[in-house]
Amino acid sequence: MKTVPCPTCKKPVPLGAEFFPFCSDRCRLIDLGRWADEQYRIPAASGQGQLPDEEPDEE
Ligand SMILES: [Zn+2]
Repeated sequence: MKTVPCPTCKKPVPLGAEFFPFCSDRCRLIDLGRWADEQYRIPAASGQGQLPDEEPDEE
């Protein structure tokens, strides 16, 4: 049977699986959470007072 790797845990998932392309509902939720986290992080990065590319002046 043909399988694809689960996007979350890389476990082989057979075509037609209940949560395809994820191996389980848990992996599906983890992947969705990861996307949501990244979408929140990008706009938030400029609003949290963090300047990753600038080093503070130390005298
Ligand atoms: Zn998985």
